[in-house]
Amino acid sequence: MNQWQENTIRDLLASGITLPEIAMVAAQSQSERERNIVAAAYDIHASDVLEVDSEAFVSMGEDGAWVSAWVYVEGDSNDECDWCGELVSDGEGYDGLCGTHADKVETYMESHNITDWETGRRAFRDNGNLAI
Ligand SMILES: [Zn+2]
Repeated sequence: MNQWQENTIRDLLASGITLPEIAMVAAQSQSERERNIVAAAYDIHASDVLEVDSEAFVSMGEDGAWVSAWVYVEGDSNDECDWCGELVSDGEGYDGLCGTHADKVETYMESHNITDWETGRRAFRDNGNLAI
């Protein structure tokens, strides 16, 4: 993508046209070479966590090309820490808390001789310890 194209896209976004709409137009104006590059990017890199759209943007580099792609991030909006909103991935955190907050509650429980998780979690929160 050259400077003119970048500026044009920026102007279009500012005017309210969405990136998917721009991408659709870009796909229709892809050259044969760009279509081949996007296909190669798909063949080489596409996986369960990396997606290459057929209407991907292509930016020529010195010895190759950059192709826009989507990277999947584990964890959805239901897997956020109740207290700070950080995404909680598998194996990290506990009971709706991120790793940092779960660890802090655990430390708090140990230093206050609390053995019940819910009691410890509530006491930690009620005593104003939420700031990481
Ligand atoms: Zn948290």
